[in-house]
Amino acid sequence: MKIAVYPGSFDPITNGHVYIARRAAAIFDKVIVSVLLNGQKNSSAFTVEERCEMAREALSGIKNIEIDSFNGLLVDYVRQVNARVIIRGLRAMSDFEYEFQMALMNRQLAPEIETFFIVTDPKYSYVSSSSIREIFSFGGTVQNVVPPDVFKKLLERYQGKSRKS
Ligand code: ADP
Repeated sequence: MKIAVYPGSFDPITNGHVYIARRAAAIFDKVIVSVLLNGQKNSSAFTVEERCEMAREALSGIKNIEIDSFNGLLVDYVRQVNARVIIRGLRAMSDFEYEFQMALMNRQLAPEIETFFIVTDPKYSYVSSSSIREIFSFGGTVQNVVPPDVFKKLLERYQGKSRKS
């Protein structure tokens, strides 16, 4: 069974993440979308449990996707779940340098593990969790970039602030 891990902070999961997870699920027998616990930044909008719940809801229609969370070194986690592949999404060249460095570092740590890059749909190339958090925190909203359940959670989280659309 070919198992791949799609790691990230998913704070919160966006339609860009969903797109990558869906394409990975069409290639691998099982894809584990795993939320990174490491040093939860104070800037996190959602707890790991909330992020997992939103990811579970957004990806519930895809049978071979599981949601999990992990702490520590990614390669240790990948080995622990018997996976051989790390999935990463690429939006633009700006993602590439960081992702390339991380892939090489992970190969140094675990030569048997492969990093797979999946290119985003152009319509999500500008979408990042951090920009979405920022927009909602200032009272703005953006449509069609996050799953409906995430949209609701973002409104709840930042409700009470003035909102423009
Ligand atoms: P972010 O960079 O938005 O905080 P994560 O740390 O959760 O997101 O990223 C997990 C992975 O998903 C990374 O490989 C990242 O490049 C990728 N990714 C994030 N947003 C998108 C998007 N809109 N389209 C495709 N891949 C994405």
